[in-house]
Amino acid sequence: MTQYIYSFGGGKAEGNASQKNLLGGKGANLAEMAILGLPVPAGFTISTDCCNDYFRAGGKLPEQLYCELDKAMSKIEQFMGKKFGDPKNPLLVSSRSGARSSMPGMMETVLNVGLCPATIAGLIKQTGNPWFVYDAYRRLIMMYSDVVMEKAEGLEPKDGMGIRLHLEMMLNDLKNDRGYSTDTEITAEEMSVLCDKFKRKIAQHLGVEFPDDPREQLLGSIGAVFKSWNGKRAVSYRRIEHIPDTWGTAVNVQSMVFGNMGENSATGVAFTRDPSTGVNTFYGEWLPNAQGEDVVAGIRTPNPLNNDTKSDHNRHLPSLEEAMPQIYGELARIRTILEHHYKDMQDIEFTIEQGTLYMLQCRVGKRTGTAALNMAMDMVEEGLIDEPTMVNRLHPNQLDEMLHPIVDPEAAKEAKVLVQGLPAGPGGACGQIVFTSDDAVYWKRKGKSVILVRDETNPEDIEGMRAAKGILTARGGMTSHAALVARGWGKCCIVGAGALKIKSNLKELHAGGKIYREGDFLTLNGTTGIAYEGKLKMKDATANPKFRQFMAIADKYRTMKVRTNAETPKDAAQALEFGAEGIGLFRTEHMFYGADSEKPLFLLRKVILSKTPHEREIALNELYPFIKKEMQGTLEIMDGKPVTFRLLDPPLHEFVPHLRENQEELSRELGIDIEEIEKRSKALEETNPMMGHRGVRLGITFPEITKMQFKAIFEASAELIKLGKSPLPEIMVPVTCNEKELIFTKRLCVEVYEDVLKRHGVDSIAHQFGTMIEIPRAALMSHKMAEHAEFFSFGTNDLTQMTFGFSRDDIGSFMNDYIDNAILDADPFATLDQEAVGSLIEISVKKGRETRPDIKLGICGEHGGDPQSIEFCHKVGLTYVSCSPYRVPVARLAAAQAAIKYIKPS
Ligand code: PEP
Ligand code: MG
Repeated sequence: MTQYIYSFGGGKAEGNASQKNLLGGKGANLAEMAILGLPVPAGFTISTDCCNDYFRAGGKLPEQLYCELDKAMSKIEQFMGKKFGDPKNPLLVSSRSGARSSMPGMMETVLNVGLCPATIAGLIKQTGNPWFVYDAYRRLIMMYSDVVMEKAEGLEPKDGMGIRLHLEMMLNDLKNDRGYSTDTEITAEEMSVLCDKFKRKIAQHLGVEFPDDPREQLLGSIGAVFKSWNGKRAVSYRRIEHIPDTWGTAVNVQSMVFGNMGENSATGVAFTRDPSTGVNTFYGEWLPNAQGEDVVAGIRTPNPLNNDTKSDHNRHLPSLEEAMPQIYGELARIRTILEHHYKDMQDIEFTIEQGTLYMLQCRVGKRTGTAALNMAMDMVEEGLIDEPTMVNRLHPNQLDEMLHPIVDPEAAKEAKVLVQGLPAGPGGACGQIVFTSDDAVYWKRKGKSVILVRDETNPEDIEGMRAAKGILTARGGMTSHAALVARGWGKCCIVGAGALKIKSNLKELHAGGKIYREGDFLTLNGTTGIAYEGKLKMKDATANPKFRQFMAIADKYRTMKVRTNAETPKDAAQALEFGAEGIGLFRTEHMFYGADSEKPLFLLRKVILSKTPHEREIALNELYPFIKKEMQGTLEIMDGKPVTFRLLDPPLHEFVPHLRENQEELSRELGIDIEEIEKRSKALEETNPMMGHRGVRLGITFPEITKMQFKAIFEASAELIKLGKSPLPEIMVPVTCNEKELIFTKRLCVEVYEDVLKRHGVDSIAHQFGTMIEIPRAALMSHKMAEHAEFFSFGTNDLTQMTFGFSRDDIGSFMNDYIDNAILDADPFATLDQEAVGSLIEISVKKGRETRPDIKLGICGEHGGDPQSIEFCHKVGLTYVSCSPYRVPVARLAAAQAAIKYIKPS
């Protein structure tokens, strides 16, 4: 028979820290602390299995639980020397939730269970403090009626006026009538009368009597905590954190200890090291004569724990070290025991009841990225952990914080949220709203910081995107134009914020029932996807001196290479700085987006709109030096490291000019009238451009465009070789679906290659010829593709688009509904869908290697910078991942962690 209840107390426990799945994080650690001999009030944990059985039985506690409950309660009674429901010497308990991973504040708690008219007198005798007892009763009535009688019963209060609010109003009315400013001024007699009034109000409001029977209170509170697993807050939190509904919560029933029993009582929270800097000092706050909820409620300013935690805020208040030196000493000793035992920073909660210290909770403490890095490195030096553990202590995404300024989390707590979208570009940005690219450039010139707000962006917005501090779009997904470009630049960006209504003509933005105009301030948090009203404080995340050292250690464990997606010498240099080992994707068409791109963009448009081969040849010759220059600059910077040049892959419509002045200039240049320009532009419009005339298909229709690119690559390389450099170009053909496309393109490549060798008098140029695998057919036909490709690079943006049939530019409008309804766990454009897209990759890897065992395999879709997807790449044996420059450190760390996870035992 399954055991539902696990007891702890008196230096013993039936569970332990390894049983988080069964006992929840809180329960497992309470058991572990009891085993360590720490002063934990006796109690027991009801397992998550019981929670699941409770739901399976339609919200009924299993029969077996009742018998286990009696036994477990009598154990607590023995440890504490008190009896539950006993009129003379009553035991009170708390009933708290505790899931496998912490869900702070998302579920319910009931305190002081067991207090009722029958036990009140006994407790007054025990404590000699009637005020305290009636205050505890008042708190129980408020919590119980709210959590058990209203929320757990699924009662939706009208106009948000739940029972708790009614009772709070009564408490305030009493204080106002008497002219009191704090609860402590209320007399015990008045408090007792108030409790009776509360109970009458509950009966009248909810139609049920408040239960003054301790056992009924206990059972009610256990059921209510289980039910809170399916409360609104908990369910939405699980969706955001990807926590499965099937985990369930445990319930911890524990003997009550009181921090509000007078001046020698207190309650507090502490971290065994500073969670914001990582410095090895004991860090915390406490409140004399208070209960835990008072610290969290933030009504009183908490006192500092010790000298190290004094600040301008709390310096005037005595520290625990000063006020209760002996207890502080005991707590400091516990701090060391816990750190040595768990070998990690712990977040602890404690209560001091009339001079006796009790531990109520310990768990691994949350920390900033900088703190995580600093303390992990310190712990290696202290001999607490080994290097692989250190590498695992930092979530790769936490590195982001160290590379970008971030929104100050304290400021964000107070701020008004404007809208939530997809977190497309990292860090934070604050500036004034502008609605057009030109305005962004103009305002920037005037020395202003701006946020460019658009429905979506296209290449014509590029200058404005450069000029803006941050970008906010109403449409688009994680791989939309704005997202790709912003991430590439390391620029803060939120896309797909569907709740925005942008009226560009009026220069107005409508959100949350308010209108924001040009010049109003906005702050974006590109790491969470939240946009805030106003100007929030930013934190400067200056480079951490330990960062390089940490990364160098991580690199020792990594087996996959990390490359970058970059298309200008500037971006390449930035990526090198972050540790890139080559370029995995040089999107040739992206050089038409960046700074100083006006001229080449104009020439590309000329190529696109040329009608005759002659017109096109002239335009191509003019464009050639620009392309060669960027390619050569990049090869030079990456000297000795591979650079994968992808042949032009623009959906042509993206480059067609829409502005009148651009059209006029082209018409002058091509010697044709503007109507003809419009006609040619119209002819390029496609119903489904993502599946239209792009990638390799362009070069099949216009081989001269492809040949111009080969010429640029080989001539740039030949010239560098003559200067004593070692260029390593790799040529990559995009959007292929069969091997004949490769044969066709390779023939052009060989032709140009031999011509360049001859003309430049060099013997050879080391290079490779390969393809992207981004169409399911290509993945399935990889054995044939590999006959002509020396490498594959998985273009998982398009591969995801074509496997799901989801348009990568339009998913912003419906992806949230998929996530909210748990149809998908995550956006497949951000985190690789390992089930299907991953299967295609596995098939392709296997088939590719069958034909060409030494084939080089990489990934260059956005997933190449996503930690979970990187782990998958390691598992299937890719040679490298490639991601935008600012993701390079993230990818290095994720690749190291994957290697450590799958290390083969020697
Ligand atoms: C891809 O499709 O994954 C890719 C890298 O190419 P692009 O995003 O440029 O289509
Ligand atoms: Mg692609």
